[in-house]
Amino acid sequence: MNNMKIPFSPPYINEDVINEVVDSLKSGWITTGPKVKALEAEIKNYSGAKEVLCVNSWTSGAIMMLRWLGIQEGDEVIVPAYTYSATALAVYHAGGTPVMVDTTEDFNISVADIGKVISSKTKAILPVDIAGFPCDYDEIMQLVNEPGIKSMFTPASDVQRQLGRILVLNDAAHSLGATYANGIKTGSETDVAVFSLHAVKNVTTAEGGAICLNLPEPFDNKALYTRLRQMSLNCQTKDAFSKSKAGGWRYDITGLGMKINMADVNAAIGLAQMRVYPEMLKERKRVFTAYNDAFSSESWAVMPPAVVKGKESSYHIYALRIKNISEQQRDQIIDEISKTGVAVNVHFIPMPMLTFFKEKGFNIKDYPKAYDNFKCEISLPIYPQLTEEELSYIVKAVKDAYKTVMR
Ligand SMILES: *Cc1c(COP(=O)(O)O)cnc(C)c1O
Repeated sequence: MNNMKIPFSPPYINEDVINEVVDSLKSGWITTGPKVKALEAEIKNYSGAKEVLCVNSWTSGAIMMLRWLGIQEGDEVIVPAYTYSATALAVYHAGGTPVMVDTTEDFNISVADIGKVISSKTKAILPVDIAGFPCDYDEIMQLVNEPGIKSMFTPASDVQRQLGRILVLNDAAHSLGATYANGIKTGSETDVAVFSLHAVKNVTTAEGGAICLNLPEPFDNKALYTRLRQMSLNCQTKDAFSKSKAGGWRYDITGLGMKINMADVNAAIGLAQMRVYPEMLKERKRVFTAYNDAFSSESWAVMPPAVVKGKESSYHIYALRIKNISEQQRDQIIDEISKTGVAVNVHFIPMPMLTFFKEKGFNIKDYPKAYDNFKCEISLPIYPQLTEEELSYIVKAVKDAYKTVMR
């Protein structure tokens, strides 16, 4: 058979996306303006979040929310060891210290282990919906509301005093469109959730992020949206759009903000994609199901979680695991697959295995389940454009590679 070339995660660009971008270019307004507003409304409507603010990446959005919380040196933020590094890097950028916790069989953070590391220094928890499969938010919310844990909480800013407990900030980078129990969508569950709109994510703006706000009383999410929007624009009281109108020149700077606003020309891509996202998600599910059907007959294959206990994934990553193999054998299987022209990936190299985190004192030996998940994991291509022919080719490439390496 001729070699196919199958990329890992190409962006979804149709005529509608192109037209929407051209519309922004021709409108005379290319940075933050009507398209960003429209995208925020789409994501808000789709996810059920109380308010949605778009920024230029997940990372910058998470840093801003931790700054808003008033994170200071010595404050601890709990993150899983098994995630993309941005989850922990955002904590360092905000001035805090990440505390890593091991994962479970479903790839997500272990709630039992969160309980073991909470201290009077803990200010926030960042659970991650790995591969698009939602964490146990009910359990996490229950944990932060336990009287013993609440009484340990030591607020040091107005926001922390108002909240009166640990903040739950969901790293929902993968999980736009995933549902929790009773069909409730991610983005509407936790105090704050941030979606990534990076080029490889389910919906993209090339680079971008969407901050979802669902803070409890006495917070006013609408007022907070306005405040954060300013914060994302250098704490300037007028954005460029209002300043560009006749007579609108005077403004003030009210604090030390960040410059992390999303541009309209970027928002246009995501706006067109959101209009067809339910159909895109169906196609992702088709691919996911095709892999499950193809690998369920193989005794060595462990299928990733998708529909469990009322939760349903956003089918962002197909994280195949292979039983009883070493890290080296997994790497060899990837080499064999790569020879066929199929691009695969590994999600994720646990953070304690990366130089920066090792230098901070983290050791993978303390996160055995994260290592177990990593050493046998191969992420297969999953996106709406994949044809049946391509899927058969990928499945054959994986099965042949396994046989070659393991015989
Ligand atoms: C992609 C990703 C991020 C970072 O998103 P950016 O928009 O690139 O900043 C954060 N967390 C996880 C789990 C991711 O996969």
